[in-house]
Amino acid sequence: MSPETNSKWQNWAGNQQATPQRVATPRTPDEVAAAVRSAASDGLTVRMTGTGHSFTGAAVAEGVLLRPTALTAVRSVDPTTGLVTVEAGLPLHRLNRVLDEHGLALANMGDIQEQTVAGALQTATHGTGRDAAGLVSQVAALELVLADGTTVTCSREERPDLFDAARAGLGALGIVTAITWRTVPSFFLRAQEEPMKWDEVLARVDEFDAANEHFEFYWFPHTEGCLTKRNNRVEGPAEPVSKFRYWLDDRFLSNTVFEAVNRVTHLAPATTPFVNGISAKALGARTYSDTSHKVFTSPRMVRFKEQEYAIPREELVPALRELRSLFTKRNWRISFPIEVRVLPPEDAWLSMAHERRSAFIAVHVYHRDPHEEYFRGVEELLTGFDGRPHWGKLHTRDASYLEKVYPRFADFRALRDELDPERRFANPYTRQVFGD
Ligand SMILES: Cc1cc2nc3c(=O)[nH]c(=O)nc-3n(C[C@H](O)[C@H](O)[C@H](O)COP(=O)(O)OP(=O)(O)OC[C@H]3O[C@@H](n4cnc5c(N)ncnc54)[C@H](O)[C@@H]3O)c2cc1C
Repeated sequence: MSPETNSKWQNWAGNQQATPQRVATPRTPDEVAAAVRSAASDGLTVRMTGTGHSFTGAAVAEGVLLRPTALTAVRSVDPTTGLVTVEAGLPLHRLNRVLDEHGLALANMGDIQEQTVAGALQTATHGTGRDAAGLVSQVAALELVLADGTTVTCSREERPDLFDAARAGLGALGIVTAITWRTVPSFFLRAQEEPMKWDEVLARVDEFDAANEHFEFYWFPHTEGCLTKRNNRVEGPAEPVSKFRYWLDDRFLSNTVFEAVNRVTHLAPATTPFVNGISAKALGARTYSDTSHKVFTSPRMVRFKEQEYAIPREELVPALRELRSLFTKRNWRISFPIEVRVLPPEDAWLSMAHERRSAFIAVHVYHRDPHEEYFRGVEELLTGFDGRPHWGKLHTRDASYLEKVYPRFADFRALRDELDPERRFANPYTRQVFGD
């Protein structure tokens, strides 16, 4: 493994950059361990990146940047137990392809499948689910290289504390080299997408959440319009949207036209309420069924910046009402819909849904638009509900706040002190959130 010269890095949204001192692309866990040891002997920090889909500086590497692209082997697939071991840099869409071939699937996923398995895991990436939780809850074992260069494995039986901490570890406890997933037999989902008015959604949110395996909705700010999505298992066969409808809805309206809309509202923010009204009306009802990951995920081609907070599930409706009234009080002009999802409690120490049923509220702005005032206002509101920020999405919280909302925060920090006293895996973001 020879060091590379082109060291410039930036994330998907283009709001985080890094110029590390060295870049390397390890091909094996042994090469990862060697890279960690050589960083230590040169007094450098070291960090592996995923695909840079985090909006925060989570993946910024100052010393040695390890690219994930050559650490992508599929080590084993056991269709009987559902246990599947893959290396850290495998993108989720490739994992899904492998699972498809063996009649297996992840029980739940987020909106996209571009991220690496380890990158998605390290920030506790989640979708929406009544019973099925996020990625951290679908892991059976991890293999990671620690700061002293040793390679260890952890699971519920072996080093359970490390397992609970490192599944959503922000890359701060070690470099994950392989993940064993606990998968389920493959399944079809029937998606029911239906526009609905704000008042009806808020009145029926408990009913929708209780009656559906995966419920979420989007609210178009400055309007009464919402788009609800209900995904439930069905026997099959798949009845996907036609190629034309897919192109029209998912490529053209949701991406091409939406990009054009954002260029207009970027230049003329005052048009946003009017334009959002049209957007909310343009999205019609549709029903289709397909292989689970094709229903969970869709292409996201319009670049944006995002903040997302998890609050106790029972606070969802009061929080949304207050959020809406903030739109009236402040002069915000926001073109992106607000996304609302739910999740059952998770046990990983730094999962945003740790030990509590959670509602997630996500706010976005077009990548060229300023986000600071809007995100700050929403953050002030949601921290009032003991909100926990998504680790991969923009926020301003530091350790003094985070220790109050994460009951195992001190345990995480103690484990980090023990495993990485020299802060080999630190970066500016871990210094912000852990305080050192
Ligand atoms: C368009 C878009 C849609 C999204 N949708 C969702 C969604 O539906 N739900 C959701 O929860 N999030 C979502 N996200 C956020 C995204 O899932 C997370 O930010 C995720 O961490 C990105 O994965 P990545 O592979 O790009 O990792 P990066 O952003 O590159 O890295 C994330 C963290 O993982 C660390 N890391 C990466 N590899 C390793 C390794 N091998 N060992 C140790 N640490 C490692 C990095 O250093 C960094 O700290 C979305 C983001 C975008 C841009």
